Amino acid sequence: RAKAAGGGCYRVFETGMGEELRRRQTLKVDLSGAIERGELELAFQPIVDLRSGRVGSFEALMRWNRARRGLVAPAEFIPTAEETGLILPIGRWALEHACTEAAGWPAEVKVAVNLSPFQFRQTDLAQDVAAALRVSGLSPGRLVLEITESLPLLGNCENLTVLHRLRELGVQIALDDFGTGYASLGYLHQFRFDNLKVDRSFVCSITKGREARTILHAVTRMAHMLGMTVTAEGVETPEQLRHVQMEGCDHVQGYFFSRPVPASEVGALIASLNGAAIP
Ligand code: C2E
Ligand code: MG
Ligand code: MG
Ligand code: MG
Repeated sequence: RAKAAGGGCYRVFETGMGEELRRRQTLKVDLSGAIERGELELAFQPIVDLRSGRVGSFEALMRWNRARRGLVAPAEFIPTAEETGLILPIGRWALEHACTEAAGWPAEVKVAVNLSPFQFRQTDLAQDVAAALRVSGLSPGRLVLEITESLPLLGNCENLTVLHRLRELGVQIALDDFGTGYASLGYLHQFRFDNLKVDRSFVCSITKGREARTILHAVTRMAHMLGMTVTAEGVETPEQLRHVQMEGCDHVQGYFFSRPVPASEVGALIASLNGAAIP
């Protein structure tokens, strides 16, 4: 039969495409009902302040507990959410939920929430953030908004205006995934971020050669001179920790300290990390 249809390879390819389309279609349909069905969750990963050795904040990381399929990682559904516009209600949910959780934590612990560049297209992002703060009662100084540089966000003046409006609310703004995009340095003179998060892929390379360490050292100094703090992402080993410490990073996030945990484990994790000495 395959032969009759003009060659086996072609046929297999065609079936594959159909499956992919169907997979994406059901993903969209399922995702559109995820909030109402209570399938979205936030996991929280601690970010440790190297100077004090204590937990300074937690990053809220979205998880989708998809019916009959189990946990889905954000890399698998955020792009679909952005494509369909579902990122707006989902992003709003994450903001409000993260702020509400954080309001119950010790007052010195902040929460960091990821914003999609697509959320900037909507004019009332600052209003959403203000609403999340109001509803949760969280003080603005305890909210950090993480913005990824993977899209040409700041090329657009309106986006820059939104950033300034967010800043006026009293929240902190972090540039996420630094070192992966194409506009890294360009971003820094357009807006004064409070915090720079050096991407995991970069942290990965620091034990492999002197060059990466020199770059991290220079980036950290530059960030400090511009009034930003620096967070190293994805630190997994004591060796990586030693290097990011040596090059002057202020905060560390990564499996070395902890994987992202459910909200119910945050309290115990703060206690155990704050009680432990940094090697
Ligand atoms: P991100 O904001 O850069 O978050 C850090 C990612 O690195 C998380 O992956 C975290 O689990 C992972 N990670 C942290 N430490 C380590 C480590 O030591 N080793 C390794 N291998 N990985 C580590 P996750 O949770 O899968 O999230 C991936 C991305 O999805 C995030 O990258 C962020 O861009 C996006 N994302 C997550 N939650 C949200 C959300 O609520 N809204 C939006 N718009 N994006 C989100
Ligand atoms: Mg992030
Ligand atoms: Mg990041
Ligand atoms: Mg990253």
